[in-house]
Amino acid sequence: MSEINPPSVASDYSKFVPFTARMMAAMRARESIKEDRLFDDPFAAILAGEEAFQRVDLQLKKQDQAYIAVRTRFFDDLLSLTQARQVVLLASGLDTRAYRFPWIGEVEIYELDHPEVLAYKAALLKNINVCCKHHLLGCDLTQSWEEKLLKAGYCPESPSVWLIEGLLMYLSEAQVHTLLKSVSDLSTYDSELGIDLISVKSLEYEPYKGYFRFGCDTPEELLSHYGWQSLVIQPGDEGANFGRYIELPPPREVPNVMRAFLVKAKKKR
Ligand code: SAM
Repeated sequence: MSEINPPSVASDYSKFVPFTARMMAAMRARESIKEDRLFDDPFAAILAGEEAFQRVDLQLKKQDQAYIAVRTRFFDDLLSLTQARQVVLLASGLDTRAYRFPWIGEVEIYELDHPEVLAYKAALLKNINVCCKHHLLGCDLTQSWEEKLLKAGYCPESPSVWLIEGLLMYLSEAQVHTLLKSVSDLSTYDSELGIDLISVKSLEYEPYKGYFRFGCDTPEELLSHYGWQSLVIQPGDEGANFGRYIELPPPREVPNVMRAFLVKAKKKR
């Protein structure tokens, strides 16, 4: 079975980033056993594995767990309500929405991530039935991946919903712009996009300092440049609180604050 192991040294970027997929799964597993859980991901624990639980306990803070729970629920809601029949999960990691959602009708789900991450997930979940047409496309999202998506059957003329969850912060600014341009070129009007970003100040956030590369304080402007009209919410605000944050996040106009943004966007006509 393909492996996605933790880095043995802190600076091993190429190992750390794929391993974050297991850390996200560990946090979803923890959420799934809570009485007041915001979602139930029955596959997260097996995908995470013991090493990821240990890393989460060792390195992450309580607020990280709250953020991942809220982020997952926020984007679960977006995907459960979509009318689009094409779902593209960029950097899907160990996301199990293809497996755990009751997809109705002919829904095509395309997952793109590093080949070893998708192979690891496919191997562990090989006996699970899905009720969608499921395409796992191993690729490097900083190289050209668009052809692979088109060859798998994705139709740019039909509305789609894109999810880019937990990715942009690991890319350089130039890579972010190239990716957003590709997503925009492949999206017809009324397509939807779910995406999360961090502020520039958050590049200093431990333990991700050095791994986080891209922060942005004005997601609306960034996405508007690529033809998307956005609704931007900070975790903790109304619509992205779910009873998990007692304090509200600082208002947007306060500069130099570590913050995250959850975004739902629509492709403009
Ligand atoms: N979206 C998933 C989630 O929320 O659980 C995974 C998020 S995880 C923090 C980051 C993911 O981005 C990892 O699965 C990693 O393999 C993927 N990733 C980062 N850079 C990538 C690249 N250049 N090409 C493909 N996948 C990439």
